[in-house]
Amino acid sequence: MSKKRIPSLPQLLKSKIYKTGQTRGADDDVIFQNRVNRNSTVLIPYDFYISINEALGNKGKFENGFIVLINPLEYFSKENFENEMLSKGLKLGKNALLFYETRHQWNDYNPISRKLKPATKRTQPLGGSFVARVPSTTSSGDKKISYGFNISKLKGAGIRVYEYASKEVMKDCQNQLEYLFWLCIDSKQVALEAGMTLESIELRKSHIEGICKDRKLANHFLLKENRIIDNDGNTVCPLCLEKLKGIGFLSRLAQAEGRIVPDLTVTEINLFHIKELRTGFFNHKPYNLGWGHHHCNVVCKDSGIIDTLKWMKVIVDKNLKEGIKF
Ligand SMILES: [Zn+2]
Repeated sequence: MSKKRIPSLPQLLKSKIYKTGQTRGADDDVIFQNRVNRNSTVLIPYDFYISINEALGNKGKFENGFIVLINPLEYFSKENFENEMLSKGLKLGKNALLFYETRHQWNDYNPISRKLKPATKRTQPLGGSFVARVPSTTSSGDKKISYGFNISKLKGAGIRVYEYASKEVMKDCQNQLEYLFWLCIDSKQVALEAGMTLESIELRKSHIEGICKDRKLANHFLLKENRIIDNDGNTVCPLCLEKLKGIGFLSRLAQAEGRIVPDLTVTEINLFHIKELRTGFFNHKPYNLGWGHHHCNVVCKDSGIIDTLKWMKVIVDKNLKEGIKF
């Protein structure tokens, strides 16, 4: 084994890969945590608890526990509901919370008048038995209602269960994603321009290839099958199947989230989930992650690639039928 220090990646690429281990896109007003590790406490809607109470990896245990969210209507109006919960190992304040998200729930089963306390911790015991995020209504002038996990020190009760990945899975994904960077057609050139030397590029590449071979993360057949690389072994955008250019990983503009990139020659590259993230599945895992164009990603976000392609075909066919030329 070589004792040489493994050279670092260019900073922007390094941080892009690192961030794939974190959750994204939770607003201030929701109960989810934003930009925390994917192995944080997960929030599971009660109806899904039966099917997904086992995590992927770590012997089925969520590394930082879970909180099951209960609809107050169900809790207060369903007969023997507490027993039903108990039979599933669930108890309010221990590993379950009432979650108020509509004004109806708030008015009909008001937790304050029932002398319930908002939760204060993500781990057992939760320090209270409810959490509330009821939006304001402009029509009747009702103010928004927010209780529990709403101060800057303790923002968000946990992450969406489908965003979860164990530490090991997270790391495997990050290594595979770096491996995919190096499979980009011009990755070497881009790394050189970003300040790496040829020697450090070779060292870093063979280091990551070694890890990925050991961890069985370098199966090109599977990567191809999942639209992550093409027949030449180059990384492609999973939707449009165009070969990705390394520069898209390194543009500062592209890194500024929520900004429209004015220079259209720089195509922003984002993390791409091949099978979309949705409740009931753990899809943040190796061979389901690739890199793709920001715009292509936005288009397929919630429906997945194949359904998006079908939708596009319908639109194109319809336009052709109408005689539209483009
Ligand atoms: Zn694309």
